[in-house]
Amino acid sequence: MERSFVMVKPDGVQRGLVGEIVSRLEAKGLKLVAARFEKLPEARVTEQYKEHLSKPFFPGLKTYIMGGPVFLMVWEGRNVVAIVRKVIGATNPQEAMPGTIRGDFGIDIGRNVIHASDSVESAAREIGIHFKADEVCTYTRIDESVLYEY
Ligand code: UDP
Ligand code: MG
Repeated sequence: MERSFVMVKPDGVQRGLVGEIVSRLEAKGLKLVAARFEKLPEARVTEQYKEHLSKPFFPGLKTYIMGGPVFLMVWEGRNVVAIVRKVIGATNPQEAMPGTIRGDFGIDIGRNVIHASDSVESAAREIGIHFKADEVCTYTRIDESVLYEY
């Protein structure tokens, strides 16, 4: 089953949105298989965002992500990577559709509440940065037989 790495960023934690975000992903039918609440060390922030190292917004992004605790999660489900990207909405909350997490809860691009992997490959890489293999749980959710058509 496909997996995605999802993180409630420090602004989302401070604004009390952890429960709402977990709720939306659970209600969609996705399965939570790992989670941790912590303040990220610099090395893991840099590794997480290494594609953006040379971008002008990188220093601000690093300060933002290290500014407080984050809620790290791994979610599992059929086509989960693409589904979660749709549920979170466009990077800039002002362009994100109402009904998406960023569309409903954010305003500035540099305070956009949540991160989610953008491909199956980056999901595997990001999960590996933040979780050991034995921290990701394998289990069957009781509703899976009615959630999926086949
Ligand atoms: N970001 C920013 N300014 C920008 C572009 C990105 O502050 O002009 C931040 C923002 O927090 C974003 C993160 O950098 O979520 C990673 O950017 P990316 O383009 O990968 O967007 P995402 O995959 O998060 O939608
Ligand atoms: Mg990205």
